Amino acid sequence: MSKPKIATVFLGGCFGCHMTILDLDEKLETLTEVIEFNKSPLTDIKEFGERCKIGIIEGGCTNEDNVRVLQELRANCDYLISMGECAIQGDIPSLRNTVSLRECMEEAFLNGITVYNPQKRIPDDPELPLLLEKVVPCHQVVDIDYFIPGCSPNSEAVWKTINAILRDEPVELEYRLLKYD
Ligand code: SF4
Repeated sequence: MSKPKIATVFLGGCFGCHMTILDLDEKLETLTEVIEFNKSPLTDIKEFGERCKIGIIEGGCTNEDNVRVLQELRANCDYLISMGECAIQGDIPSLRNTVSLRECMEEAFLNGITVYNPQKRIPDDPELPLLLEKVVPCHQVVDIDYFIPGCSPNSEAVWKTINAILRDEPVELEYRLLKYD
């Protein structure tokens, strides 16, 4: 019998939440005895090979490509886990939501005190994904089944959540595993 598949995506985050998965240490070996990682930065698999039981999201949506990747994940996974504060509420990338996108870009590329940009040009190559006017949490783009808070989340909470889903059991996390910072 083939193993259930897990996919992970990296949107507007810092890769710290993926480090939480790697923090499972020896449990990661145990996990890979019963599951296979499919599309993920951890495997460098770029396309879905098969339908996945679980999709894990790091980061919120900061640009149009993040939205596309997230919608594709939703379409290819039975359950989605929004992992970490960036995915759940935008977190640090969403600090730019306090100003307009235009103001943010001008500060970053034209007016900031450390900026050197003699051409006075804001990057606009068509290869670059267009930034959203505001950074948005993942549940505002697609339905999310589970949330694991924290920056970064507790790896034991990730472990328990994945195992409960694999066994089709309710996810019950003790208060000590829930981080809100
Ligand atoms: S929640 Fe924290 S650790 Fe996770 S991607 Fe965001 S900043 Fe990084």
